[in-house]
Amino acid sequence: MREIRLHDTRSGELIRLEPRDPGKVAIYACGPTVYDRIHVGNARPYVVFSLLSRFLVHEGYEVTFVANITDVNDKIYDAAGVAGVPSARLAEEMTAHYLADTERLGLGRPDQEPLASETIPEIIALIEVLIERGHAYAADGDVYFSVRSYQDYGELSHRDVEQMDQGEELAGAGRKRDPLDFALWKTHKAGEDTSWDSPWGAGRPGWHIECSAMAETLLGLDFDVHGGGSDLVFPHHENEAAQTRAARGVPLARIWMHNGMVRMEGEKMAKSVGNIRSLAGALDYAGPDVVLLYLCGGHYRQPIAYSEAALDAAARRAERIREVARRLSSGVSPEDMAGLRERFFSALADDFNTPDALAAVADWIREANRREAPIGDADLREMLGVLALDNLLDVAAAAPDDAALRLLREREEARSAHDWARADHLRDELQRSGWQVRDGEAGPELVPG
Ligand SMILES: [Zn+2]
Repeated sequence: MREIRLHDTRSGELIRLEPRDPGKVAIYACGPTVYDRIHVGNARPYVVFSLLSRFLVHEGYEVTFVANITDVNDKIYDAAGVAGVPSARLAEEMTAHYLADTERLGLGRPDQEPLASETIPEIIALIEVLIERGHAYAADGDVYFSVRSYQDYGELSHRDVEQMDQGEELAGAGRKRDPLDFALWKTHKAGEDTSWDSPWGAGRPGWHIECSAMAETLLGLDFDVHGGGSDLVFPHHENEAAQTRAARGVPLARIWMHNGMVRMEGEKMAKSVGNIRSLAGALDYAGPDVVLLYLCGGHYRQPIAYSEAALDAAARRAERIREVARRLSSGVSPEDMAGLRERFFSALADDFNTPDALAAVADWIREANRREAPIGDADLREMLGVLALDNLLDVAAAAPDDAALRLLREREEARSAHDWARADHLRDELQRSGWQVRDGEAGPELVPG
């Protein structure tokens, strides 16, 4: 087995992956809070940890990948209040959108996608242990974690304890013994339309304890990789790590991985094709292959700039892969090009370096184009398969048939008439018959996939 090293935020070092259970890797990545449609930035952790899982499977590991859905949260109550709908209905609607939007990426689903609202008994049980062990206290229907009771607080985000602002609303400020403390349970407030019974009265969980409970319930303790966006390091992950260690005496996870942010470039984003900030908009504009190529174009730890130009550059990369596919034959690739394949997988083993891996793909394609006789596609197919991009090689049906073109025309008519539901339906129908719609620079076109 190849040695795999991943960057761990807690130690600040590359750590060799040595699974808790030999041959098996357990990954938990924090998913979205479902108060709105997700944007490309929210999709990044979904893509990074889905692709990391695929790579580990390729390397021979049995992977369990859990990505939660936060469906009880202040943001949901606030957004539901503004929209004038029940919060549970808004969360349900946005959960359905999240599932449908991410489904279109073609990565399959995580093995488990727990909902906070379905983990309430486990959350309450974990809070009770924290109170018993002197790390939490109840106050007028709220429960708070006592930060100063846990001496390793700050070990993940490396902040000085005095510099930590939990970012919580002022409502509970008077009940906290120390401003550093954060809420594990919040008493029911006027204006909140859901609550659950607990030993401290009706209320609902704080965000951080939800993830500690969901992760432990599904993966146990001391599991291999806990991931999420770098905006979650503090307070969310610091608090998750502290709660679990304080309650159980065992760390929640071994390696804490964080992806950089997707930077939106303001004004340049507005265009008649619609808003490509949303994942759905980006997929309409560029198709799943291009969105994946765009996201893999930056190292997961680095921030990446997002713009139409960046998607267009990724589209050209996809086109180069489709072009070389027309020149390849199916079967074994030349022995003397195996070094490029090795470079690809070594790059992924070295802290999941997708840009270096894609550079190896580009070199492989350049070499294939240089050769006179068609060569076997097996190595390229294997490399692209790990990034869920192998369908770019299936260009046999390179020209859309009349039926597909008719569906595309009908979709354009539906869009002109602002009948978005019908337009989406026609897009899905096209996808089922093997065509992705791309509303790119040159107007809508069909690409195989
Ligand atoms: Zn979380």
